[in-house]
Amino acid sequence: MIDLFSDTMTKPSPAMRQAMASAEVGDETFGEDPTVNDLCEFAAGLLGKEAAIFVPSATMANQIAIKILTQPGDELICHENAHIRLYEGGAPAALSGVSLWTLPGERGILTPAQIRGAVRPDDPHYPRTRLVCLENTHNKAGGCVWKLEEIVAVEQAAREFGLAMHLDGSRLMNAATATGVPASRIASSFDTVTLCLSKGLGAPVGAILATSAEHIKTARRWKKVFGGMMRQAGIIAAGGLYALQNNIDRLSEDHENAAILAEGLSQIPGVRLDPYPETNIVYCDISATGLSDTEAAARLKSEGVRTSGGYGAGYSRLRFVTHLDISCEQTLTAVEVCRRAFA
Ligand SMILES: *Cc1c(COP(=O)(O)O)cnc(C)c1O
Repeated sequence: MIDLFSDTMTKPSPAMRQAMASAEVGDETFGEDPTVNDLCEFAAGLLGKEAAIFVPSATMANQIAIKILTQPGDELICHENAHIRLYEGGAPAALSGVSLWTLPGERGILTPAQIRGAVRPDDPHYPRTRLVCLENTHNKAGGCVWKLEEIVAVEQAAREFGLAMHLDGSRLMNAATATGVPASRIASSFDTVTLCLSKGLGAPVGAILATSAEHIKTARRWKKVFGGMMRQAGIIAAGGLYALQNNIDRLSEDHENAAILAEGLSQIPGVRLDPYPETNIVYCDISATGLSDTEAAARLKSEGVRTSGGYGAGYSRLRFVTHLDISCEQTLTAVEVCRRAFA
């Protein structure tokens, strides 16, 4: 199966498994797992932050960030298609008692004017606006990348009102790779940064939340409260450390394969790229082929290509995600399979 369903489908390589099998471990709850400590130090350095914690998922990293930057009754501002809004089970409400003020925006991008317009007046009728959450790359928009100046402009608007900034950088390394801007420079506009280790970076489990020395103590507390404190977690942290040390440079190959896929798909009658990919996520609209996304995905699967259909009624979009277990050759095969399936 050529599995383009998601970059979460990556499996640990033999070398990564070797690093995991031979990892030194201890009880991470007490700060005694040397491999977890190495990973956190390495990740904090990569992201230009004073400290980092290792957590089981990027969802938990995002929710710890929201927890430490808000109080119950506060409101956060995010894009209407943000992962924290759509795909984290309503966690901001459930765990932090926070409401969401959502904004539309092409390619997942928000403007400083939108931020200024969304901040509530200081009046007991309104929730207190406290936090802006951005996503880079933006998953649902199609792996779109924020330009550095767009981030800095939003940050400036947010800081005018004393708002905190969180980055859902689950795919931050894809954004850094695509723009050539170091991850630490992108991260410098934010109080807290999530980095997912189990997407295109290829680790089996885990994510990083990086922040200041001031916030890290509270972050550790909420990691415990949310059930994220582990024991000999060095086994999985070793996979994450291996990923950061070996799998960042090769992300450009995923972007090249996504471009090949996009180029091939765009030449198939009835297929429209939406948007044209900037990183490793390829969305296309297939409504003009006369197939529903469910039918199309089933046809592709029977021919050995796994993709994900659209999200709910009215969509005829398919999503393909390239990653480290997909070669250039498999990408070309996937294009051929699509050509036959959509004919
Ligand atoms: C996958 C993803 C997450 C959540 O990651 P998990 O590790 O699966 O919890 C958060 N944000 C974005 C943008 C994602 O793509």
